[in-house]
Amino acid sequence: MKVHVDQELCQGHGRCYAVAPEVFDADEIGNGVERGDGTVAAEQESAARLAVANCPENAITIEEAS
Ligand code: SF4
Repeated sequence: MKVHVDQELCQGHGRCYAVAPEVFDADEIGNGVERGDGTVAAEQESAARLAVANCPENAITIEEAS
C-alpha cells in the first residue's frame, strides 16, 4: 500500500508522524508528508492505518496495492 498526504487539507497537527514516524515525516512548517514515494512496508501498515484514522483533516489517502 501507499499513502499520500493532501497538502491542501493538512493543517499540521502532527498526529500522523507521531503515530507512524516511519511512514510520515514533518516538513519545514510541521505539515505531514509521506516518506519517500509513500510506499508502506508491510510491518508499518497498521501504524499507517492508525495515522489515517487519527488525521483530523482526513488529509491522508491510502492506495492499496493492486
Ligand atoms: S495528522 Fe493529518 S493534518 Fe496532521 S500533520 Fe498529519 S496529515 Fe497533516
